[in-house]
Amino acid sequence: FAEEQEKSVQKKLGDVSLSSNRNNSTAEASLLRKLMRNGLVESKTDIEIQRQNPNSPLYSVKTFEALNLNPNLLKGVYDMGFNAPSKIQETALPTLLANPPQNLIAQAQSGTGKTAAFVLAMLSRVDASLKYPQVLCLSPTYELAIQTGEVAAHMAKFCPEIEMKYAVRGEEVSRGSHLTEHIIIGTPGKVLDWALKFRVFDLKKLTVFVLDEADVMIATQGHQDQCIRIHKNLGPNCQMMFFSATYDQQIMEFAEMIVPDSITIRLKREEESLDNIQQYYVKCSGPQEKYNAVTNIYGTVGVGQAIIFCHTRRTASWLAEKMSKDGHAVAVLTGDLTVEQRINVLDRFRSGQEKVLITTNVLSRGIDVEQVTIVVNFDLPIDMQGKADCDTYLHRIGRTGRFGKQGIAINLVDSQEAMNICRDIEKHFNRKIHYLNADDSDEIE
Ligand code: ADP
Repeated sequence: FAEEQEKSVQKKLGDVSLSSNRNNSTAEASLLRKLMRNGLVESKTDIEIQRQNPNSPLYSVKTFEALNLNPNLLKGVYDMGFNAPSKIQETALPTLLANPPQNLIAQAQSGTGKTAAFVLAMLSRVDASLKYPQVLCLSPTYELAIQTGEVAAHMAKFCPEIEMKYAVRGEEVSRGSHLTEHIIIGTPGKVLDWALKFRVFDLKKLTVFVLDEADVMIATQGHQDQCIRIHKNLGPNCQMMFFSATYDQQIMEFAEMIVPDSITIRLKREEESLDNIQQYYVKCSGPQEKYNAVTNIYGTVGVGQAIIFCHTRRTASWLAEKMSKDGHAVAVLTGDLTVEQRINVLDRFRSGQEKVLITTNVLSRGIDVEQVTIVVNFDLPIDMQGKADCDTYLHRIGRTGRFGKQGIAINLVDSQEAMNICRDIEKHFNRKIHYLNADDSDEIE
């Protein structure tokens, strides 16, 4: 059953009909975010800590040295280019590495260093002289399991004695054999089969149990029950590590049910704001004038890059084709691209091969391209009822504190309705959207 599920996720990932962010499956959206990330997401907000047991000690570290890691593991950490622990790692790592072991529930948005934290803990808990699985990491999908395995392989680069095995689709074991690898990374269905049906390893002997992307896990039909079954068969002293990118009641209840006596840490997402953004609107009579406005603006963008948001895929393709014909190098990112194609487009844009990215709402959130100075709303964002969609506007235009850079937002307005929407957005955020004459390039500069 689980394999069927995985296959369907896999199929979806390769599918070419992902029309909007909202329709994407949780697993896929999470994977996309992961694959597109450049590096650590820095955060200025503070960690929130809750302890179920007030007697358990709590430390935090500012350096990796302070963790007293195996020197070869430390070498691996530095080899990955990490200089200092991320915010979540500062608190998570001492807890994960503490003796006696301490259970942890950690919630922080994607990109904050959770995976690196638990992989480091997994590796440092291994006793390589014992030839059986001691660490189990459950991932909701095949792809994520492989991703995590690759991080582990890199970090363990100087610890060749540590062995790992994937328990995922395509991997087979024979009944009655015994696994000798120290670490198993896999999906719930396969792990359940291996542990309880084929009995190739003993869940009771595990010292570390990691539940990665627990929110995605719960959202996937059947996985929650499988996790609970695996969890029931663990020994009483197994250390539990629970990670989630999102925070909601259901996930936290699940976490507290399966992770007793834990320290819970949480890093709140930084809110986007319009503080450093100058907002403008340009009056146009129709698509052709909008196009002219865009090319005028484009001609003026000296440094930096622009993202243009269109309401439909059709408008995006039309605009891209027209601009290309006029000799502009533009990138297009729409929902009909596969995950690989999207990554490709974004990589090219990020590296500056194209100065303009034309897109629909596929990625209103999640494009952290620092060099983007201008965002153009070719069409203003509206919801199903045709009303101003202020959330989407903020995701398109807003920046989190970490960039703190100046940005420019330009809204193309081609009707009275569009003008009303623009005014509604202005009112909603209580930030002036200024009039701009797009024929006057001095003004744009
Ligand atoms: P999450 O699991 O929260 O999504 P990851 O552990 O995958 O986050 O980390 C996000 C990115 O940041 C990865 O590219 C990772 O290599 C990098 N990273 C993680 N920890 C550090 C660190 N301490 N210093 C620098 N980069 C880091």
